[in-house]
Amino acid sequence: MTDDPDRLAQLKSQFPRIFEHSKIHWGLEYGEGWDELIGTLCARLGTILAETPAGIIELHQIKEKFGGLRFYYELKNVDKLHAAQIAVATQQAEQASFGICEACGEPGTQRNKGWICTLCDRCAMD
Ligand SMILES: [Zn+2]
Repeated sequence: MTDDPDRLAQLKSQFPRIFEHSKIHWGLEYGEGWDELIGTLCARLGTILAETPAGIIELHQIKEKFGGLRFYYELKNVDKLHAAQIAVATQQAEQASFGICEACGEPGTQRNKGWICTLCDRCAMD
């Protein structure tokens, strides 16, 4: 479920502005259940960045950690207002990830399977 070049390529073609300066070296480090969440986040970031034509977002990592999404990025030429909007959008997606099964996208909760992950009842039994 990590390092899937096809999913990353799909995001790049869908959200060129967001991934144009991407420095993601290890692919997408989260399960497909969060694809929709990431897509929604990227669309929001695109809307915010559309208001700052010179703004650049450099993505460093999109990964799962302790059952939650972590979205690491750096901004360039982005004013405070839009930087704050991007931070809020990112935090909301990170919060939402704790309620979404990372495997299938259904409502999920944190499980301890030797490590903490967010899964629905069905996927937790696999
Ligand atoms: Zn599931």
